[in-house]
Amino acid sequence: MKRLGKLITGRARLAAVVAAAVVVAGCRPAGDGRVVYPSPSTAPGRTAAAPIGGVAALARAEWTRASLISARLEPMGRITAVTVHHEGSAEGDDDTGLGDVAARLRRIRASHLDRLHAGDIGYHYVIDRAGRVWECRPIEYQGAHAGNGEANRGNIGICVLGNFERQELTEEQKTSLATLLVRLMREHGIGADRVYTHREIKKKFGLTPTLCPGRNLQLYMDQLRRGPLRVVR
Ligand SMILES: [Zn+2]
Repeated sequence: MKRLGKLITGRARLAAVVAAAVVVAGCRPAGDGRVVYPSPSTAPGRTAAAPIGGVAALARAEWTRASLISARLEPMGRITAVTVHHEGSAEGDDDTGLGDVAARLRRIRASHLDRLHAGDIGYHYVIDRAGRVWECRPIEYQGAHAGNGEANRGNIGICVLGNFERQELTEEQKTSLATLLVRLMREHGIGADRVYTHREIKKKFGLTPTLCPGRNLQLYMDQLRRGPLRVVR
């Protein structure tokens, strides 16, 4: 499978990445909040043509059939912010097979249920090392990622797989993250000043400091917000 993101950008410069992001950000949510996929080749269920480069997201059903624990969930309410995380795993594994990533998402979900007493995986989206975007917690529900209920309110959580204290983002991850951010900012009217990293949102709410999202992802976010994300309307 040749990766679409690679075709679009290869190792293109940041401006080109975001230009592509703006183009593909044309996909809009349907009335029920589900993403409308621009072409059958990128629809979920066709895992052989799993979307790369953030064109569309793999549905939750691609990695779990587990039910949400609704007693532990709150409705999302009005969306006003996005927060970006890294996985921060000690091993920093680079598996990109669909089955490997799906298992990794199930492990993250299990840890969030256990550690955070969460009703589901805490993030709304995960971007794997191949740049695929995976739908995680349904957007209708408030996330469990930012630090406390107040910080999570109206705040979409995106986790990029890897440990960016010591790994670099792949080019596919950069493209997908820029694309997803542009799409979410447009859909929900979020300005660049409301696109946070985990360490920033924790600071804003006076919570315990964290290294998340790791220095390399923090640098990339700084770069995106200084430039291309500032002009997203
Ligand atoms: Zn985090």
